[in-house]
Amino acid sequence: MAETGKRRISILGSTGSIGVNTLDVVNQLGGREAFEIVAITGNSNIALLADQAKACGAKLAVTADDRQYAALKDALAGSGIEVAAGREALIEAGARPSDWVMAAIVGTAGLAPTLAAAKRGADIALANKECLVSAGELFVKAVAEGGGRLIPVDSEHSAIFQSLEDDQHHAVERIVLTASGGPFRTWTREQMAGVTADIARAHPNWSMGLKISIGSASMFNKALEMIEAKHLFDLRPDQIEVIVHPQSVIHSMVGYADGSVLAQLGCPDMRTAIGYALTYPNRTKLDVERLDFAKLARLDFEAPDEVRFPALRLARTALERGGVQGAVMNAAEEIAFHAFCAGRIGFLNMADIAEQVMDEMVGFGAAMTMDDVFAADAEARRRAGDIIAQR
Ligand code: NAD
Ligand code: MG
Repeated sequence: MAETGKRRISILGSTGSIGVNTLDVVNQLGGREAFEIVAITGNSNIALLADQAKACGAKLAVTADDRQYAALKDALAGSGIEVAAGREALIEAGARPSDWVMAAIVGTAGLAPTLAAAKRGADIALANKECLVSAGELFVKAVAEGGGRLIPVDSEHSAIFQSLEDDQHHAVERIVLTASGGPFRTWTREQMAGVTADIARAHPNWSMGLKISIGSASMFNKALEMIEAKHLFDLRPDQIEVIVHPQSVIHSMVGYADGSVLAQLGCPDMRTAIGYALTYPNRTKLDVERLDFAKLARLDFEAPDEVRFPALRLARTALERGGVQGAVMNAAEEIAFHAFCAGRIGFLNMADIAEQVMDEMVGFGAAMTMDDVFAADAEARRRAGDIIAQR
């Protein structure tokens, strides 16, 4: 807590979809009267970052992009808000003393700043799934050693977190991650082969950032979530199930040894999960749409198709192989995702490239330190880049 008695919070990735929703929730829960905003960070959208900093009274505003330092400094001239830029500054944003940190930078870029926050013992509201996919046990250990709490924000993991009963871990048989199936749920592979990033980014239920929207279309997002779940909830691979549920109303479920299944339901709006992470273990009133069951009428389920959506199979392979395979899968796919968005490779090539790099790097051992994680990540990026360059 700050001397003022306000809760001190930082938002890493404040200009993104999760970041904007987080500031909305913060405002709903009292804004500057209730919270001291220690630091916010963005990347290229300097105008939004500056507007946010002024509106929420942030102490520090950081852009990840060095070249934007002057622009941000200009935009915040006379505001008294400290300005910084670059990788080290992002880590500093995570390291500045605060009670709660929203980790909502997209991709592996979020790992180092989130780790800095975890190590000093902040409660981590984790939207960035790549932290757990890449660094797994090491990340969980860093949070535990820091002494803060790790509170999932990804809607599926928030649902599981909310459906887990205290002290009943021994009785958890399985978790069931729901997946909307994305815009290509009923498409053939032939149809998917020709899609562009603009087509793939149109998600039927959720409004989200570009990477996760494309990841929902390929189900690579669900692949990341399977690995995320393993580390968050300490599960064996065979305890992690995926079911396609096109309405995205059931956000995920926990199955217990007595046959009971507990679920969390809600409208597809990330503010519920963000609000829960901010007020946990309490609940508070949020202005979000309520479920209308009569209007909804039905909930549908389908088994996922690992032939049309090979990302799910890759996640299972990564879970079974262990070691740095999660980091490798994530890094290779991130490079492939950028190549797809640039029109250099097709939609289906993303999984092919991730699989090839995973197979090539199968001999890499477990990560003993974060440096091992960063090395595997860099090697996987290099190999994925080579494969794309040779096409
Ligand atoms: P987004 O693309 O909308 O926003 C990403 C944020 O990261 C922005 O603030 C951007 O400025 C910043 N950023 C981008 N590149 C950066 C870099 N190289 N260095 C530092 N900062 C950088 O993404 P999003 O949809 O808000 O998702 C953020 C994270 O949350 C992702 O890991 C995503 O998987 C996860 N997530 C998102 C949702 C959702 O509904 N949007 C749901 C669950 C989980
Ligand atoms: Mg999710």
